[in-house]
Amino acid sequence: MSISPPPSPEPVGNRPSPGRASAAPRPSASMPDFPAAAPDRKGERTVNQAAQDRVIVFDTTLRDGEQSPGASMNLGQKLQVAKALRDLGVDVIEAGFAAASPGDLEAIQGVARQVEGPIIASLSRCNRGDITASWEALKDAPRRRCHVFLATSPIHRDFKLKLAKEEIVKRAVEGVRLAREKFDDVEFSAEDSARTELEFLAEVVERAIEAGASTVNIPDTVGYALPSTYADTIRYLKKHVRGIDGVVVSVHCHNDLGLAVANSLAGVMAGARQVECTINGIGERAGNASLEEIVMAFRTRADVLGVKTGVRTERLYPTSRLVSQVTGLHVQRNKAVVGQNAFAHEAGIHQHGMLTHRETYEIMRPEEVGFAKSQLVLGKHSGRHALKERLVALGYQLEDAAVDKVFQDFKVLADKKKDIYDADIEALVVHGQILTQGGRAWELEALSTTSGTGTLPVASISLRAADGEKHREVATGDGPVDAVYRAIEKITGIAVKLRDYGIVSVSTGEDAQGEVSIEVEHPTGVYRGRALSTDIVEGSARAFIDVVNRIALKLPTNGKPSEARDEMGTP
Ligand SMILES: [Zn+2]
Repeated sequence: MSISPPPSPEPVGNRPSPGRASAAPRPSASMPDFPAAAPDRKGERTVNQAAQDRVIVFDTTLRDGEQSPGASMNLGQKLQVAKALRDLGVDVIEAGFAAASPGDLEAIQGVARQVEGPIIASLSRCNRGDITASWEALKDAPRRRCHVFLATSPIHRDFKLKLAKEEIVKRAVEGVRLAREKFDDVEFSAEDSARTELEFLAEVVERAIEAGASTVNIPDTVGYALPSTYADTIRYLKKHVRGIDGVVVSVHCHNDLGLAVANSLAGVMAGARQVECTINGIGERAGNASLEEIVMAFRTRADVLGVKTGVRTERLYPTSRLVSQVTGLHVQRNKAVVGQNAFAHEAGIHQHGMLTHRETYEIMRPEEVGFAKSQLVLGKHSGRHALKERLVALGYQLEDAAVDKVFQDFKVLADKKKDIYDADIEALVVHGQILTQGGRAWELEALSTTSGTGTLPVASISLRAADGEKHREVATGDGPVDAVYRAIEKITGIAVKLRDYGIVSVSTGEDAQGEVSIEVEHPTGVYRGRALSTDIVEGSARAFIDVVNRIALKLPTNGKPSEARDEMGTP
């Protein structure tokens, strides 16, 4: 990277109060009158008052991250992730796109009501309907932000929006003003900034600031930028946009060329003071910039980057595990910071070096990111208290009743299995339906299959519907699992195409539990389901029911999920 840190300290992320306008490098006559310059009503504008070496961490796992195919989360799961993000110490949680679907709105509302501490944000297009939906979702949040966006690049202007430059500016200003009618804290994103003409981008950003945006986000929506070009864009804006030193400049990078983290760091070195990112880098296509990598780069290379965050890094690993468990998106073994092999030293020569002096091959310590040195093992005689402690350490904040339920399942498992590892406990929470506050449409009652050489595989299955009524069906198939799936399709009326099917053992030992994971295609999208069992056929049935429930719970209220997203795209 041919980038050096900004030469002189600039009051980034620090809104000058009228009294100290002279601290701003520009003459006060050219400074627009910022409505948000007045102290926040509750005096809570803490992140915007952050010191100039403090970077605001804006997590969008629940919005951009959830847009990964098949990663949709139900309300209970989103709440669990939001609580983990709060404990991790992120500054802003973008909880969803309220106008995208009633389910999104409800989830943001849940987070707004139950997760105190971080600012809760909702994405909106620049129109009254979207902003009203965001207000509905966020009005109960003690700290809230409306995040409005509009595309600015020629390709988006001509082919998606069919709007001329002047109309884009007008609409952006209107969007920010509308949002400011209800919100003190408004962020504006110029979607596809990285492919927008610099002069025009500067104009839009300046007008958004004049209209009252206190954060301006410069997204590389399609992952097109290089570190040097992205830093140039941020530097250009810092130089040419009036009022930019009074607001927070934010970066939002996608990983299509594998550069999301590098670009985000380049943006920060050029003066940005908010990073938008997701846990494990999940997100559309190749994903977003990964939160854990950015945070650990700041920490490990503070000598060069000179910035810090409020993230409690020892919560990174547990949060990564939680998001992976909840979304079903496994973390690759060699993933930086949180992959299984991130701290493994197999080669003999490395091990020798490690034993002599750790820093020979280790730039971060596993404890710094919460990587458990040794797997804690629980067993038959472990009590509820020990289990609860382990759950908290793993990132799960459960109500007492939920802990009781996990403890019951734990006791049953402990009778079958000698050693219970962290992975087993996580599996009990995820598969024990602890997080399905959104409800379940179907539950498995009973299952039997017959198969063998020369016989036609037959499955007989009984499911209980949400109203308690039992439904029974018999079907044949190419194999016992196929027969089970056909029987479930007959009962639920939900037909899907199976795209992927796999079984892995979740922990070690001969008595390890098997996890079945499947991916299916349905007219409304791609869905993933998982289930745990010591019996392969039963596990397969439960994984399929998991998928069917995800589809069933989305269908009746929302129609096509995230219609607004499909039609409009997002930053
Ligand atoms: Zn994005």
